[in-house]
Amino acid sequence: MSNGDRADYDLAIIGGGINGTGIARDAAGRGLRVLLLEQNDLGSGTSSASTKLIHGGLRYLEKGALRLVREALTEREVLLRMAPHLIRPMRFMLPAIPGPRSPIMLRIGLFLYDWLGARKILPGARGVDLTHHVTGQPLLRKYRYGFEYSDCWGDDARLVALNALDAAERGATIRTRTRVTRAEREDVWKLILNVGGLREVATARVVVNAAGPWVGIVSETVLRMAGRPPVRLAKGSHIVVRKLFDHHSGYIFQNTDKRIVFALPFAGDFTLIGTTDENFVGSLDGVAPSAEEVLYLCRAVNEFFREPIGPEHVVWAFAGVRALHDTSNGHDAPEDVTRDYHLELDERYGTAPVLTVYGGKITTYRRLAEDALGKLSHFFHLHRGWTAKTPLPGGDFLWDAIETRVAQTLRAWPFLDEAEAWRLVRAYGTRVERVMGDAKRREDAGPWFGPLSAAEVRYLMTHEWARLSDDVLWRRSKLGLALSKAEKDALAQFMLQFSAQSSPP
Ligand SMILES: Cc1cc2nc3c(=O)[nH]c(=O)nc-3n(C[C@H](O)[C@H](O)[C@H](O)COP(=O)(O)OP(=O)(O)OC[C@H]3O[C@@H](n4cnc5c(N)ncnc54)[C@H](O)[C@@H]3O)c2cc1C
Repeated sequence: MSNGDRADYDLAIIGGGINGTGIARDAAGRGLRVLLLEQNDLGSGTSSASTKLIHGGLRYLEKGALRLVREALTEREVLLRMAPHLIRPMRFMLPAIPGPRSPIMLRIGLFLYDWLGARKILPGARGVDLTHHVTGQPLLRKYRYGFEYSDCWGDDARLVALNALDAAERGATIRTRTRVTRAEREDVWKLILNVGGLREVATARVVVNAAGPWVGIVSETVLRMAGRPPVRLAKGSHIVVRKLFDHHSGYIFQNTDKRIVFALPFAGDFTLIGTTDENFVGSLDGVAPSAEEVLYLCRAVNEFFREPIGPEHVVWAFAGVRALHDTSNGHDAPEDVTRDYHLELDERYGTAPVLTVYGGKITTYRRLAEDALGKLSHFFHLHRGWTAKTPLPGGDFLWDAIETRVAQTLRAWPFLDEAEAWRLVRAYGTRVERVMGDAKRREDAGPWFGPLSAAEVRYLMTHEWARLSDDVLWRRSKLGLALSKAEKDALAQFMLQFSAQSSPP
């Protein structure tokens, strides 16, 4: 009997963040028997706490990381075409300031950024007179000149959910709230799982450790690999305030400490501000922004916007931890450690292999998944890479046809208002019809929890592994910002009742 016959799965992936779900999708589409194991909710780790930029990273250009920047820039339009509902082009305003980066340096950097970017859709960079441009209006009068350039912006947590959904539709088994506690390595892997306190066992030919910031813990304590994993943890925080400007561009501000801070339009009525970057030690459960980080971000944007903000204006804040592949033994500053990913395959004669994923960006997850399968190609007979040209669920429409889809949605469900239609199309694309079904009147989709319908909640619980109200409010959507306390309580109650009546997907 071959080890393939003795194992339940070809590939068991630990971690339901963007990298784990991206690998699961790619592998399932190539015919592998895939098991994805996530200890909490999908995207509940770093992959819902990013700045959500689909970008090359201007500051990585400054560090000379040309290959990383070029690959990430190229990936922008690939992802935009794959998921035109989740990802949108965004213009960024970079005000020129006297200081470390002269206007000429910025101009050269942006020229390089455009040149490396293999753009077909996104417009190029240009200088802007801020005294006559909409992006100049909310800024302090002293900023008179700036540069505008393109990147994309996307919904990180929904990107995770849709990769998982696509993987499942291609045959993968997705298990959330399932923690891998221990693993025995023979010619196949035997994984011990904790599912709500109950012990289960699964076997697989190959394990992928895609546990994000937990990668070192999983490596040392679950898989019990020899040697210290070369990983550095860096924390970054964001704050959300009521909107500070009323247009669709984002801002990239150069801070006095040479760091940069973004201010981005967010969830309709809000502005997202981030991020900090500091070494992280301590427990990864419940990572949150510190009071100092909140103050730092407020002060950073107060240098630019006319309307000053303080911690009292913050309506929501979140923090995430990156696992950086660090070969400097902790000597480099967090911002100097590469954001590139690193894949390490441990294969030994007679024992089942493990592939460890270090680092990465939301932007490069699809490339990372392709590379991961490339590393495993000698174990399996794999079809060729396929993900670059295949839309994610609901993304089967042209990247610039979103307004048409919103108009169609309003025609099909006339009881929705325009903001609701936009939100639904942005979240579900062509699958809005699976969410709203044949509802003819508002009550048909109800009960409603503010702008959230029971129809949508049922869909998320049945098809997208949402189990608790936070899964819906903060990851499948950002409606946590819109619902009142009473609406949130009613939602939690509804979800409890619905899960008692039905079994999870
Ligand atoms: C502040 C900040 C801002 C960022 N901004 C951007 C950006 O703008 N653009 C960009 O491209 N990238 C950005 N990134 C990088 C990006 O967010 C990360 O590279 C990416 O989310 C990492 O995904 P992951 O799947 O590796 O990790 P995670 O999303 O953390 O997923 C790992 C998962 O593994 C699970 N897990 C751990 N242990 C176990 C176990 N024993 N059993 C089962 N499951 C387990 C965890 O619960 C977790 O959900 C940012 C990162 C940070 C921190």
